[in-house]
Amino acid sequence: MDQLVEIKSKIQINPSRVGKKYFVKTFGCQMNEHDSERISGMFELDGMSKAISEEYADVLFVNTCTIRENADDKLYGTLGQLKQWKSEKDNRKLLVGGCAAQKDKELVRQKAPWVDVVIGTHNLTNVVDLLNRSEDWGPLTEIIDEIETLPTEAPSIRESEYSAWVTIQIGCNNSCTFCIVPSVRGQEISRRPSDIVNEAKKLVDEGVKEITLLGQNVNSYGRDLKIEGKARPYFSQLLEQLNDIKGLERIRFTSPHPKDFKAETIESVKKLKNVCNQVHVPLQSGSSNILSKMHRGYNKERFIEKVDMIRKIIPDVSLTSDIIVGFPGETEKDFQDTLDVVEYSKFDLVYMFKFSPRPGTLAYDMKDEFISNDVINDRFLRLKDLQTDISEKRYKRFLNTEQKLLIEKTSKKNSEIFTGRIDGGQLTHISKDNISVGDIVNVKIVDTTPFYLKAELL
Ligand code: SF4
Repeated sequence: MDQLVEIKSKIQINPSRVGKKYFVKTFGCQMNEHDSERISGMFELDGMSKAISEEYADVLFVNTCTIRENADDKLYGTLGQLKQWKSEKDNRKLLVGGCAAQKDKELVRQKAPWVDVVIGTHNLTNVVDLLNRSEDWGPLTEIIDEIETLPTEAPSIRESEYSAWVTIQIGCNNSCTFCIVPSVRGQEISRRPSDIVNEAKKLVDEGVKEITLLGQNVNSYGRDLKIEGKARPYFSQLLEQLNDIKGLERIRFTSPHPKDFKAETIESVKKLKNVCNQVHVPLQSGSSNILSKMHRGYNKERFIEKVDMIRKIIPDVSLTSDIIVGFPGETEKDFQDTLDVVEYSKFDLVYMFKFSPRPGTLAYDMKDEFISNDVINDRFLRLKDLQTDISEKRYKRFLNTEQKLLIEKTSKKNSEIFTGRIDGGQLTHISKDNISVGDIVNVKIVDTTPFYLKAELL
């Protein structure tokens, strides 16, 4: 059966909920945000409409994360506050899903018995069915260890009309010691290329101009697939197929793994007109010693070789990265190695995180080697200063250049200006005159800062 038809057939519309309001509260990464769009889609099929905030909602879904700092504390703090939310209106329903639910299972119910449904990451397409069952039978928990239906096949309500995420793969076969993903999202499963291409075409028909391919390890896409007995489709072949879609103007992807970058993928980024000139290479640490403790599968020298390979093929590429500061056992010398690699790599932007132990990960058990908060905070600031300096210099290369800018939204800080992104992914500000959200306009970069560019319409 067609997957979408199968999902629709699972949704038994409950007349008592038609016209009610739902809200999805999302913590964490893009994968979670995308799952939330799917959950919204299923709630709308069920006859509900989106509330502007949880205050106006009858049904609230909390999509949890376990990766970021203090995520567990934040979750249980939030659930504590939501007990009050439930009591303020009759028959409100509270659902909890996402990585924390998958990891903690019954613990969520023990700590927050007022939650109506606890659902894991592998069975999201059952969400409406579970809501119905909880109406009849009371609170319930359904966590399964194997994926039933790729959640990406579910209908979705997107946050943007012009940009969309497309999941190409779920799960991860790696075992980074700081990460909970392999245990809560399972082994890698790639979607078939034809399904991905069809979804992208459908999105373009709906007005989407930019897609971001999502997966935990996108550049190992396809290694689990065998199509018609032939060799697996590599990520670069998928990019080629997507590049041919008429009307699809921009293709981005996140997150790749440095160890799996092949020259052919970078050649594709260079060659394919619609694939953006941006590559994310999550360093995590520049120290070979720490990288080994993280089980990252590369060392300092191998990472530098990857950066060299990428820059040799595309000298002006925008490189971005993720770094964790203060991993257990990180010495000053280890941290200095990180600063050296950052200095060498000349990233445009680095997403920095202070190490925070996540229960269920191997790093959580390295307690003997935890580093004091003072040391972590000091290193974090030093890294931030260095990267701000590098970003400031790097962004200057755009000054007086012409760029194509996709207008995304009104700036949060100034209602007179729009923000958007140029091809390399840099955040760019522009006056609202004569342009609208969703336009792709030719602009000139007239000023730069370490954090964003300023542009004028050409
Ligand atoms: S590659 Fe490592 S950090 Fe990324 S999802 Fe897999 S285990 Fe987690």
